[in-house]
Amino acid sequence: MNDRGPDLTRAAALDLDAIRAQFPILAESIHGKRLAYLDNAATTQKPEAVLAALDDYYRHANANVHRAVHELAARATSRFESARDHIGAFFNTSREQIVFTRGTTESINLVARSYLQPLLQPGDEVLVTGMEHHSNIVPWQLVGAKTVAAPVLDDGSLDLKAWKAMLNPRTRLVAVVQVSNSLGTINPIAEMIAEAKARGIPVLIDGAQAIAHTKVDLSVLGADFYCCSAHKAYGPTGFGVLWARREHLEAMLPWQGGGDMIRTVSFDKSTWNEVPYKFEAGTPDISGAIGFAAALGWIDQLGLARIAAHEHELLAYGTEALKGVDGLRLIGTAANKAGILSFVLDQAHPHDVGAILDQEGVAVRTGHHCTMPLMERFGVSATVRASLAVYNSHDDIDQLAAALRKASRLLR
Ligand code: PMP
Repeated sequence: MNDRGPDLTRAAALDLDAIRAQFPILAESIHGKRLAYLDNAATTQKPEAVLAALDDYYRHANANVHRAVHELAARATSRFESARDHIGAFFNTSREQIVFTRGTTESINLVARSYLQPLLQPGDEVLVTGMEHHSNIVPWQLVGAKTVAAPVLDDGSLDLKAWKAMLNPRTRLVAVVQVSNSLGTINPIAEMIAEAKARGIPVLIDGAQAIAHTKVDLSVLGADFYCCSAHKAYGPTGFGVLWARREHLEAMLPWQGGGDMIRTVSFDKSTWNEVPYKFEAGTPDISGAIGFAAALGWIDQLGLARIAAHEHELLAYGTEALKGVDGLRLIGTAANKAGILSFVLDQAHPHDVGAILDQEGVAVRTGHHCTMPLMERFGVSATVRASLAVYNSHDDIDQLAAALRKASRLLR
């Protein structure tokens, strides 16, 4: 997947059974049924390679980082910092530009506090889109920026013409989701970045739903800030990355104070550590970094082109399968879409649908998916969302479709 869809020409078929065997949780029985895990946009399951990296770290290398001369501290520090190297290499960028955070949410809040707030003048705007996750809306509001949203078209794609027309001299930042978590829409971020840069406006990309499905090359993308979470890409929860242009990181003040982020401290004045440590106050999530690096290594081994091709085929299969369910309305049918099927069933509340699916072993998310303005745009309070990962199969889709036919009979 890229701005124009997956590169199918480079994609050899995946050995799905072998991939599934690497995820022990997929063998769980749910209410006596086979598990069809289709809640990957909320969080993905973790392969043996990630579980082993976490286990090995705690068994053989656990200590605090950067702070002691003993052997275990040296092991922990070396694994932690080499994780930063691997993560930087995965995104084709330098290690100094990889700031470790708790995830996309914290990364965006960091940019709001450290970058945007000091620059804000009354009337300044952050231009977002109508399909943003709350974490790409609320942090801007919290620092006092006026948050304006470009409209979403009926098929769930962005109204790019309207978005362009909304760029103006008061736009202090453009913030946009690369792949919508609620609809699967893939936004044309390369074009949007070029357009904003031509007007001298910096751009933040919310890559939470992108990095496990498409190659992200931060040295060519041209963005100013890029945010992502490990747990949506087969890594551990509570860990993520803020990437930023070096000049921004150098100019920004730290947003949290504490250990590790300082160079010197006195009661009169403190000075800051170098980038990226100046933004990493306190004991970091050491195993999170190690687990994320292992997850990205695992993705690399499979190859994102093959992952994207598999998910693309599954999305087409799933879209067709859902057409056979009475009263089902798909929300989000953009031509350029990632592996997300969001829908409502006539007259049935999504939570009731979700509860029936759960009884059938099918795990989906129901609710507003932290995109309340988008739900309002489509005139619904919630949807049912099935979201795909590389280990999903036609069997998962068939199980979903059968459970939905049952829900449709019971609830309508
Ligand atoms: N943005 C998008 C598009 C998301 O899907 C999510 C997670 N649902 C987030 C931001 C927030 O990610 P996290 O909860 O990992 O910080």
